[in-house]
Amino acid sequence: MATEVNTAVTTTLTASARSDMNGTTDRHGSGISALLTGDSCRQPPGRLVPAIDRNRCEGKGDCVVVCPYGVFEIGVLAREDRTGLRLVGKLKGMAHGWRQAFTPNAQACRACGHCVTACPERAITLVRAGHNGRQDASTAVD
Ligand code: SF4
Repeated sequence: MATEVNTAVTTTLTASARSDMNGTTDRHGSGISALLTGDSCRQPPGRLVPAIDRNRCEGKGDCVVVCPYGVFEIGVLAREDRTGLRLVGKLKGMAHGWRQAFTPNAQACRACGHCVTACPERAITLVRAGHNGRQDASTAVD
């Protein structure tokens, strides 16, 4: 999949969110330290990987923050990957500058599920590596 990754956005977003969590505005509850260290991840790397529903993702970056293994980056959905979206996906994409989450380091996933829980748009599911989510063209395993 062609992806224009904006690493500056990722870096800024991650630093900001981690700063929030170190202060008094922990958005994910008291277990965040365990989440960030990966203590609850028990699967071997790469057996399961996150699939991102392109009709739901708004690129908010909570997955980038909570993943202990650096699986995610925020980037811009390529033009050729926008055409198969439903109307709601296209409207969301336009509203958010087509920013979405991508998984350039999917093989490092340990299937803890923290990203699934953290995503406010419920856009992430874990699937077997090599399987394209719900067979939906707009659900990509990057
Ligand atoms: S399940 Fe999500 S948070 Fe956990 S290792 Fe995999 S990608 Fe990262």
